[in-house]
Formats: sequence, structure tokens, C-alpha cells
Amino acid sequence: MSQELLSPWAKGISPSPTLAVDAKAKALKAEGKDVCGFGAGEPDFDTPDFIKEACVEALRAGQTKYCPAPGLPALRQAIADKYARDNNYTVESAQVVVSPGGKYSCYLAILATCGPGDEVIIPAPYWVSYPEMVKLAGARPVFVSAGDDTDFKIQPDQLKEAITPKTKLVIINSPSNPTGSIYTPAEIAALVEVCLEAGVLIMSDEIYEYLLYDGVEHVSPASLSAEAAASTITVAGFSKTFSMTGWRLGTLVAPPSVAKAVSSLQSQTSSNATTFAQFGALAAMQQWDKAMGAVQEMLKVFDRRRIKLLDGLNAIEGMSCRRAQGAFYLFPNISGFGMSSTDFSAKLLEQELVAVVPGVAFGADENMRLSYATSDEVIDKGLERLQRFCQQL
Ligand SMILES: *Cc1c(COP(=O)(O)O)cnc(C)c1O
Repeated sequence: MSQELLSPWAKGISPSPTLAVDAKAKALKAEGKDVCGFGAGEPDFDTPDFIKEACVEALRAGQTKYCPAPGLPALRQAIADKYARDNNYTVESAQVVVSPGGKYSCYLAILATCGPGDEVIIPAPYWVSYPEMVKLAGARPVFVSAGDDTDFKIQPDQLKEAITPKTKLVIINSPSNPTGSIYTPAEIAALVEVCLEAGVLIMSDEIYEYLLYDGVEHVSPASLSAEAAASTITVAGFSKTFSMTGWRLGTLVAPPSVAKAVSSLQSQTSSNATTFAQFGALAAMQQWDKAMGAVQEMLKVFDRRRIKLLDGLNAIEGMSCRRAQGAFYLFPNISGFGMSSTDFSAKLLEQELVAVVPGVAFGADENMRLSYATSDEVIDKGLERLQRFCQQL
């Protein structure tokens, strides 16, 4: 039989390189190797107990059936309330969709708004999944690059230049994975202005909105004006803020027609996010001060590790690293070593058992991504090995 097994979509897609690095490091560890893993894209803390308890209670109470596709009504309302209270962005609960993960929220946001012939502007360095999602929607990713010199943030002029009559959507991810950079409120306002003038939509991925350091401020593009709100899809979720990566719970807030389309797409492709998991999230939303207290504790630890890793990286000759002020990543420049990021990270893993993600996965071959969502012990040991590795290059 000469039948082709795979679709064009399947043939065009590669597995997430960040998950691949993490899997390789875990496999080496399972063989008994002493790996220092900086690849993880998730907090190393457990989910706060009261959130877990609420989920267990829901399970015991028989919350084991389907719920409405866009989420539990009480959870959607609580998320709408949070945006009004915390983000200065007033929305109806009908504009909120709870999805099986922020990743799926992103995908549905793109699928609901973009199709063949459309261009989607993705600032680079970018989160690995955006280009793949855009291609799955039949649209074309267009990259706009920013380097160390601008803290990996694109400038309004660059954005303006990249916009064509085909541009449908611009993706903004602040704080950023992989760079940890955060746009200032003024910088966000300038980018939003360019988008509104050109009549293009914005997908704002705010999954790291609460993981901030040095007193920086996060601002949601949708909060800037009614016009901005009407052109913006805001994606976030519970994974990073509350250490709930395995729960698979993402959120999306959009203009009513887009929220409705996303809800329909979800109802036909996945149905609701796990019902009893949503009860855990509901507890976090309803006991917000308690939840934020847990986040503050986590942030104190992250901040200490951030500075330790930052100082350690900058102490290595030939390496330079910006002081990232969000998420839990650092993105040092390794171009001084004259190797591709793929070769650098492969050799580093092989020789010193240190796992990092090559920057090329994020569209930045001069860098590598290190997550400091790992123990102080791993950071200390990893820095020592990294120092030794770089010295002999
Ligand atoms: C982790 C992450 C997400 C979504 O994570 P989920 O676990 O699917 O909720 C979305 N965007 C970025 C940039 C991320 O790093």
C-alpha cells in the first residue's frame, strides 16, 4: 500500500524541545547519573495544600462528571473578578474560558482568530510553541528579533515595520519565557498603540504575571483602553503562579465573540478542563490572599536563586547575562564561545551533566535558557561545572 500515513500537519510538527531536554535530563538521572537540570519549565514547589484539599474534597463529593465546556460558572466569575480587581480590566464572566492548560488557551486563541493567508507576528526570542501553533492554524509566523541590547524586547518601530496588510495578530509574552524580560507599562502602551493604529489583534500571554522581581510592574494590554480590550485576547493560567503545571488549567479572556468561538472550538475538541481540578483553582481564586501568600513565599526563594545564578553566570569569563525581572529564567549570551547553542548545550550535558535548553529552540542561537526553578544545591553545583566547562573551551 502506498498510502501516506501522516497529514501535512503531522509532518510539519516537531516535539517541544524544552520538554525534550527535560526528558533527557530525567532519563540520565534515572540511570543514576548526577545531572544538574536547568531545563525545567515549571516551579519546583508543590501546589499549596489548601488548593489540593479543595480538589480532593470535590472528588469525594462526586465532582467527576462533565461541566460546561468553558468552565465552572463560579470559576469563570472569580477569574472575571480577578481581572477587574488586579488588572484594572473589567470583563463579564461570559468572556472567560477555562481550558486544559494555558498552552491550549494559546492554541485556541490563535485558531479562533487566524487562518490561511494571515500573518502572525512573533517577537523573538519566543516561546517554542507559538510558531507551531500558528502553522497548525494555517497562518504564517513572522519573526521580529530583539537582542541583549534591548533586554530582548522589540521596539515599536520594528513592530510597525513588520506589519503588513496580511498581519492579523501580534503575540506579546511579558514576562517572557525564555528571557525573563518584562515590558514596562510605557513599552506595552507603545506596542499596543502600534497594533491599534494598524488594526491588528493582540494575544497577550500573561502566564508569568505574578512572578516579578525588583518591584517591577506588570500591565495587561487589555486594561489600557476600551479599544485595546476589544482587540486583545489575554491568556494566563494556574500552572506557573500556583505550581499547578500538572493540573492542566489555563484561562483566556477575550472580546465576547472570540470567547464564544474559543468555547465552541473547545467544546468540539477537548470539552471542559478536568472538573475536579477546577475546584482546586476555584479555592485559589476564592481565598486569594492565602494563595498570594503562598506565591510570595515562593517568590522570595526564586529571587534569591535568581541573583545567585545571575552573579554566577556573569562571573564566568566569556558569558554575559541580563538581569531578568520576571518568570524563573535567565538567558545568558554564549556567543563568545564560538559554538552554536545546540553544540554548546549538547557538549555541556555530555561532559559535565548540566542540562540547559539551547537558545536556538527559541529563535536565539547566541543564548541558552536556564531555569532557576531548581534547588540551591543544583545551582551551586551547576555553576561550578559550567565554569569548568567554559574554561576549557
Ligand atoms: C508554561 C507556559 C504556558 C502555559 O502553560 P500551561 O502549563 O499549559 O498552563 C504558556 N505560555 C508560556 C510562555 C509558558 O511558559
